[in-house]
Amino acid sequence: MKNEDSSLNPSMPDLEKKLLERIQASEMPLRIMHVCGTHERTISKYGLRSVLPQNIEVISGPGCPVCVTPEEDVDIAIALAKSGATVVTFGDMMRVPGSAESLLDAKSGGADVRMVYSIDDAISLANKKPELEVVFFGIGFETTVPANAAALLRKTPENFSLLASQKQTPPAVGLLARDSEVDAFIAPGHVATIIGTKPFEPLAEKGFPVVVSGFEARDVLLGINLLLAQAEKGVSRVDNGYPRVVKPEGNKIALKMMNEVFETSESEWRGIGNIENSGLVLRKEYEDKNASKKHEDLYSTSLEEIKAKAEKKDKKRCICAAILTGKAKPSQCPNFGKECTPKKPSGPCMVSQEGMCYNWFRYSKEGGSRFA
Ligand code: SF4
Repeated sequence: MKNEDSSLNPSMPDLEKKLLERIQASEMPLRIMHVCGTHERTISKYGLRSVLPQNIEVISGPGCPVCVTPEEDVDIAIALAKSGATVVTFGDMMRVPGSAESLLDAKSGGADVRMVYSIDDAISLANKKPELEVVFFGIGFETTVPANAAALLRKTPENFSLLASQKQTPPAVGLLARDSEVDAFIAPGHVATIIGTKPFEPLAEKGFPVVVSGFEARDVLLGINLLLAQAEKGVSRVDNGYPRVVKPEGNKIALKMMNEVFETSESEWRGIGNIENSGLVLRKEYEDKNASKKHEDLYSTSLEEIKAKAEKKDKKRCICAAILTGKAKPSQCPNFGKECTPKKPSGPCMVSQEGMCYNWFRYSKEGGSRFA
């Protein structure tokens, strides 16, 4: 059945038109999950959901890196900053609420928190200001981890350390395949650029069609076409819909660097819980660069204070966890667009341009297509 908004825009380029016509011609019901904040941005920005037929639903999984960073890691970063360290991180991360406050709140209270664009900026600050104890709060998926590994493989100054909250995508997708009502997956093209297509094969072996997609609207439409083709034939495999960038074996140099510096661990995902083998922590040889161990004595008192403050805090109920697992839409959250907006986010999904609530607020009809 066609969606009421599904008429084709006459200005749409021919390739997109053809891809969409093929999708609209299919009657196959398919609930597709993507696990990438950039895919959500493309889907929301170009209004792709509004042109898909009603039998095809695309939902968002846990693909926004700041959304899945657990409160506890944010609390440690804040405790470090309040204890005298200079905590540097990406702009989005500064606005993500911990259990009591955000890094930006801590900065307003006098803590030394600064924004950087990369780990190299953080190292450069540590080199220029040897009197500071610089901690880089490094978050993200396999896409950003190689840059952290490359930096640590070079000699870094003694007053520099890493607070790592890094995640691996395939174990989380594997968990969602078990627990969510999803028929097929769009795998993230930039993660696959590093790890290749092989790590997604266990999903296909369990019967889920998978496609690795790029980030243009036409890439996402092509991805949906490839998933439909698999579903219609009753097969499941990993199709590479982004061959101009992704090689089946990934980026061997980046993988080698990651392996040299980090090892796999269990990891806490905000709202989802601990997922086995989904984290990347520093290897023993790099323990002197591990901020959470190096400065444990320094920040433990501040961390206790943050936890005590969090217990007294009247928390607005945030349903990010349900949104990140495809069980709810942002407009179902009572705070959406009221207490929680991109200017004043109550939860992590409203902070970043990759967050589902942010994109829903900014682009969707249900969100009011408001421009923040
Ligand atoms: S609208 Fe805000 S409070 Fe509600 S789920 Fe999204 S981020 Fe959380």
